[in-house]
Amino acid sequence: MSTLLISDPVFLGHAMPAGHPERPDRLRAVEEALADPRFAGLRREGAATGRIELAELVHPAGYVEDIAGFSPQAGFAYLDGDTSMSPGSLPAVLAAMGSAERAVAAVMGGEVNNAFVAARPPGHHAERETAMGFCLFNTVAVAARIAQKQGAERVVIVDWDVHHGNGTQDIFWADRDVMFISSHEMPLYPGTGAANERGENDSIVNVPLRAGDDGAVFREAYRNAVFPRIRAHRPDLILISAGFDAHRRDPLANLRLEAADFAWATAELMALAENLCGGRIVSLLEGGYDLEGLSTSVAAHVETLMGA
Ligand SMILES: [Zn+2]
Repeated sequence: MSTLLISDPVFLGHAMPAGHPERPDRLRAVEEALADPRFAGLRREGAATGRIELAELVHPAGYVEDIAGFSPQAGFAYLDGDTSMSPGSLPAVLAAMGSAERAVAAVMGGEVNNAFVAARPPGHHAERETAMGFCLFNTVAVAARIAQKQGAERVVIVDWDVHHGNGTQDIFWADRDVMFISSHEMPLYPGTGAANERGENDSIVNVPLRAGDDGAVFREAYRNAVFPRIRAHRPDLILISAGFDAHRRDPLANLRLEAADFAWATAELMALAENLCGGRIVSLLEGGYDLEGLSTSVAAHVETLMGA
């Protein structure tokens, strides 16, 4: 048994305007970190081919058509002030969804214990009908729906990106079987994620943290407010919206986590998954904008996943 890593140059083709923090160098830094000999045991695959229909699992067909039609021949097409598409964006976001589908199939089918998909653009800010926050289609939400088609009745999505996963919350607001749990700095972009936002069926769990909070506060919050909810939901699969911008070095936020805190959270989720769902975890890269903070945190996360 093993850990699947999906990474591919197609994800570098999603270009962003000069100076934008969500840049291809993020993935180059991740690739460099995962080239270390201690990751020799990873099972590595390139991106799987994506299909536009995958987006329709969570977005209305009209929205999906609009995004596909927005793809520029050259330069950039702006969806909002900080969200845009280049000619390589549509291939990248399709490959991200296809790779999520492949990762879910590999884990649900028992080929591997768990999987990490190092894709961009990120997805957790994309709402049903709104692209925002660097995100076009909501990849982790697509992954949850694919998992349900493959036999996972109940799914938990844990989103530890420092920004609230407003898009994922929007998509699963009225759901019963997909529980969405987000820890995030608040107040911060996008402004949502208060603890009293609980969804129509109490399956949305928001755990706001404050600027300056460190790993000790983060761990306490997970012990008190996250792990008990996962146990109670009894998922068949745990998905992670794995952003690493809660790292202390990150320029877009003010939490003070270290790579070791992400390793801790990973190990705790693995222990829960072992008890609840045969260890099944699929982790998808979201944010993380300091190259050193991102690469060391991804390395700690993946190395922990490999310990299964
Ligand atoms: Zn983020």
